[in-house]
Amino acid sequence: MDNLTASEAAGYGVGALLFLATIAAPKIDAFISASQRRSLGMCRQCGDLKVIACSRCRGVGLVKGGPFSMASDLYQTFREGGPKLGTTPCNVCNAKGRLRCPNCSQQQT
Ligand SMILES: [Zn+2]
Ligand SMILES: [Zn+2]
Repeated sequence: MDNLTASEAAGYGVGALLFLATIAAPKIDAFISASQRRSLGMCRQCGDLKVIACSRCRGVGLVKGGPFSMASDLYQTFREGGPKLGTTPCNVCNAKGRLRCPNCSQQQT
C-alpha cells in the first residue's frame, strides 16, 4: 500500500510539473519571439506583419461618433447597414481597423 501511495504521489508530482510547463510555455514562447524579433531585425512596430492596428479606432474599424467626426456622411450611409448606434466607420483606416505599417512601407519600393 505504501508503494501505491508513493507512485500516486509521484504521478501527482509529474502532473503538476506538466501543468506548470503548460502554463509557462506561452510566456516563454512570447519572450523568445520578442527577443528573436530584435535579433533578426524584424519590424518593431508590426513584427513583419506589414500592418499595424489603427490607433484611432484601436483595430475595431469603428469610432464613437461625435461633433468632430469627419465621417458623418459615411455614418448616414452605413447606418442602415447596422453598425452599433453612436459609432461611425473609422475614416483613418477606412473601417478596416488596420493600417499599413509605416516602417515597412518605407522599405518597400
Ligand atoms: Zn481606424
Ligand atoms: Zn512594420
